[in-house]
Amino acid sequence: MVSVQPVAVVIIGPPGSGKGTQSARLGAFLGIPRISTGDILRQVAASNDPLSESVKAIMATGGLVSDEILIGLVTSRLSERDCLNGFILDGFPRNISQAAFLENLLSDKNYKLIVIEINVPEDVILKRIAGRFSCKNCGAIYNKYFVKPRKEGVCDYCGSTEFVYRLDDNEKTIKERLKEYLLQTAPVLDYFKAKSLLVTINGNNPLDIVYNDLISQLQSV
Ligand code: AMP
Repeated sequence: MVSVQPVAVVIIGPPGSGKGTQSARLGAFLGIPRISTGDILRQVAASNDPLSESVKAIMATGGLVSDEILIGLVTSRLSERDCLNGFILDGFPRNISQAAFLENLLSDKNYKLIVIEINVPEDVILKRIAGRFSCKNCGAIYNKYFVKPRKEGVCDYCGSTEFVYRLDDNEKTIKERLKEYLLQTAPVLDYFKAKSLLVTINGNNPLDIVYNDLISQLQSV
């Protein structure tokens, strides 16, 4: 029997780098779950969980939710059965202590760890995030500068006419999220680079080109 080693793919990029879109597409292609800690935290924030108010407040400022909360959520999610064949992490780790935790968690498991950086210049990021909105019904993502619905005000995919902006996509919060990225998350890239686990791709290209680069880089490691 041929055995294939499961992969643990970590996608790192500044807010607005397209990591959510790319990791969802990659997950569907590889048949493994995409785990977005931002999505998990948005669910916690919207629930009756005792942590919801504090999580909501931190996310609204663009700061990082505590490592303790993240480590609990990630440990529990990665222990689910659908992760046995591999998984893609989108938004985790976001600082060195989360990176060390992840390595430790995977150390006695048989996953091949691959860390992918999606690199995008800061001015492009500001436009991408400030223009971002999504369909309230199906979640399709648009951008008022780059990718508008074909018919104004109507979702291309489901025909809905209701759209939502993310609460944390305003200019003040975006700047804070970028600051956190440079301060806390950029060092994670050096951390994995020093271990020869890092692959960098150019995220300042059309979505399909970024995706093709992602696939070819994955095939080469
Ligand atoms: P994202 O959807 O990945 O842009 O995350 C949205 C927000 O969720 C971030 O600005 C943080 O407030 C919070 N968040 C997501 N992932 C993490 C993480 N690994 N550590 C701390 N906070 C996080």
